[in-house]
Amino acid sequence: MKYPALLLLLVYICLQSCSEKKPVDRMTDEQLKAYANELAHKYIIADGHVDLPYALVEKNYFPTSDNMDTIIRTGKGNFDYERAVQGGLTAPFMSIYIPSARQLLPDMGKSLADSLIDIVHGIAQHLPDKFALANTPAEVEANFKQGKISLPMGMENGAPIGNDISNVKYFYDRGIRYITLSHSVNNQICDSSGDTAPRWNGLSPFGKEVVAEMNRVGIMVDISHVDDSTFYQVVKLSKAPVIASHSSCRAFSPNAKRDMTDDMIKKLGEQGGVMQINFYTAFLDSAVDNNNVKNRVALKKLLDEKGLTPDDPEAKPVIEQFEIDHPWKTTPIETVANHIDHVVKIAGIDHVAFGSDYDGVDNHLPVGLEDVSTFPNLIYVLLKRGYTEEDIAKICYKNMWRVWNAVEKTAGRG
Ligand SMILES: [Zn+2]
Repeated sequence: MKYPALLLLLVYICLQSCSEKKPVDRMTDEQLKAYANELAHKYIIADGHVDLPYALVEKNYFPTSDNMDTIIRTGKGNFDYERAVQGGLTAPFMSIYIPSARQLLPDMGKSLADSLIDIVHGIAQHLPDKFALANTPAEVEANFKQGKISLPMGMENGAPIGNDISNVKYFYDRGIRYITLSHSVNNQICDSSGDTAPRWNGLSPFGKEVVAEMNRVGIMVDISHVDDSTFYQVVKLSKAPVIASHSSCRAFSPNAKRDMTDDMIKKLGEQGGVMQINFYTAFLDSAVDNNNVKNRVALKKLLDEKGLTPDDPEAKPVIEQFEIDHPWKTTPIETVANHIDHVVKIAGIDHVAFGSDYDGVDNHLPVGLEDVSTFPNLIYVLLKRGYTEEDIAKICYKNMWRVWNAVEKTAGRG
């Protein structure tokens, strides 16, 4: 009786482990979609970059007790509460975005940064049963357990630090948990991938101090947008792992110098960092971008010939007809999965995550990933490609958490 019992035990163990590792093999397409939706709500989904605050500023919107419907159900843009709940998005990093033009002002964008932060605080204050601020992974987890969406914040462009290093701590105290060192123009901290010529050949002397100070106070260093030279200096200099909050793979999008080369992806992985894939079609596929750039130039020429600007009421039918004749190209959702596969192949499963850029990319998004309600669609594609539940959990938040916790630890906490 001894051997049959052992055999049965082995069969049982095998069945158990098979069912844990590959439940998808036995699922119909509908079951797989339901499973993807279940995982999207079982785990926190962190998104490295959502441009809601700046999109609100552009509409002259500031949260008050009687205008919160705008946040709950706009139906417009890519983010609102109802669609975030539907998609399982529970930790969208609110981008405190400082356009490069603002860095030329005397305060280098600091007052804009403060008002964007105030907007995020206002949302949490006026909808306390739906949203909450979050300064650590543990706080996001506590909010998640209470069914609330966390609003951690990252500042896109370090210009508002100005030339005063104490501003790093100032922004930490206001809740900023990552800083993208530059936007698309060189600033006082570093060279940007979007500028025409180098100013510092990487980090400025002050920029090196900023990275050290960010490590000291516990702000994640974000290398999205920076020039390659800046990237290589940052990964050497930073004592804590770094993030790319919204960057894709340059292998598929050679036009996008703000995307990461294979060598950069490898170095980021070796440094322990995480790369959050941007969903903007131009950063996913340069063939699509080339078509859309051509359209944009042709449309501008057409409007110029008619003496119109895009905002003129008479321009509306012209633009509509042009877009029928020259449709914008887009990419399928699988393109994003290809970028995720690519990072996994180069750096491993522990170094990839989501950084959608929702509300910052004029609706040029892949089919099936149009807004924050669509995360389950992407999880479904990943499951179909053989990603396990644990892989999905890593991509959704665990990889990001590892870096954020390491940054906390470097700063002497956690
Ligand atoms: Zn950006």
